[in-house]
Amino acid sequence: MKVLVINAGSSSVKYHLYQMPDAEILARGFVERIGEETSKLSHFFHGKTHTVSTKVEDVEKAMELILETLADKEVGVLRQISEIGAVGHRVVHGGEEFTGSVIIDEKVIASIEKFADLAPLHNPPNLAGILAAQRNLPNVKQVACFDTAFHATIPKVAYMYALPYELYEKYGIRRYGFHGISHRYVARRAAAIMGKDKYDINAITCHLGNGCSVTAVKQGRSIDTSMGLTPLEGVPMGTRSGDLDPAILFYLADKGYDAKALKALCNKQSGLLGLSGISNDMRNLEEFARKGNVRAKLAIDVFCYRIKKYIGAYAAVLDTVDAVVFTGGIGENSVFMREKICNAVTQIGVQLDYAANQNAIAKEAEINTKDSKVKIFVIPTNEQAAIANDTYELTSDKQPIVSKQNSSGNIAQKQMEIPHGRS
Ligand code: AMP
Repeated sequence: MKVLVINAGSSSVKYHLYQMPDAEILARGFVERIGEETSKLSHFFHGKTHTVSTKVEDVEKAMELILETLADKEVGVLRQISEIGAVGHRVVHGGEEFTGSVIIDEKVIASIEKFADLAPLHNPPNLAGILAAQRNLPNVKQVACFDTAFHATIPKVAYMYALPYELYEKYGIRRYGFHGISHRYVARRAAAIMGKDKYDINAITCHLGNGCSVTAVKQGRSIDTSMGLTPLEGVPMGTRSGDLDPAILFYLADKGYDAKALKALCNKQSGLLGLSGISNDMRNLEEFARKGNVRAKLAIDVFCYRIKKYIGAYAAVLDTVDAVVFTGGIGENSVFMREKICNAVTQIGVQLDYAANQNAIAKEAEINTKDSKVKIFVIPTNEQAAIANDTYELTSDKQPIVSKQNSSGNIAQKQMEIPHGRS
């Protein structure tokens, strides 16, 4: 079966076409700068690249262009788009309703719309991708894979904010957590590498990219995570502040900042960019810090310190830790940051093998010494392969490993095992 995986954002749509069940990538690509004059499709197939520069008005048009390209006589990999057996979509927010991936029906669409309130930048383009795929492939089953679903196992004691309880009841204000597809993928890979069952690992998974989150995984399930109601909470990120005293916002409101300005401040002007005043990109900051730039060094130090605090807290929450896992652009590539973080948390029993760390760039590796009580892994995340697998399991004849009903109706849901497909 061929499974198309779609990740539709506000200005880009990424796609991967997989041959399942082996998760072999047949083609992949993206349409970027949607809505601008300079939109462009980049398509990668059989080791070749094909680009199209043309104005793409919206997600619907992007989806049409992607499907045309996949079935193109010259650069396509399909004879016709009807060869696509199922489509899997990344959806950022599934609220409390979804504990796993689901086959999309009208109820699921209504829920994704409902949670747009909590993820206004993400759920609407995710939904636009689903609707466009449905229009173009009306007879093909579509699956939604939620970034929040892996965190559905977080206990109430960890997901409640100490606000009036009615706000939880009325508005659903609670910790949901994000990057769940990635945390689940790397936790399962770590268990597999250690020869453990997926429900037999305690791990602290660090997804460190432009967005960053740390998750405490107990017996294979998320029991706490650093992102909250929205992906703003937690460790500092490229441009997001992460945790801060909420009174700072009231103080700035008194100084004349309105809600829009405060949102932009915390989401776009803070984090590594805000601290350094130079860049949100860790590569640049490492370079500037090496040359003696004080603010770049400060940004890196704060970033590392705050991750240390989360790792320490989650070690306490987990009681015993089998592994610390690094993923995301920084986690997978930055030898420097991994060394800095691991050396800051030796109390929990990690001991870094410096040579192994040096060699572990963008590839799966164990980077602890033989004597280390806790394993340290670098595991490149592969969210699209995880989505392809969920989609295949839910839409093919194979029986899902976990299937349950949710409160909104008769929906098969699953959080399943992931073969190690990679792009
Ligand atoms: P992501 O959002 O997962 O694509 O990650 C983006 C982040 O990874 C950016 O801050 C990049 O600077 C960072 N990154 C990518 N490669 C490296 C590298 N070799 N060293 C340090 N940071 C890197």
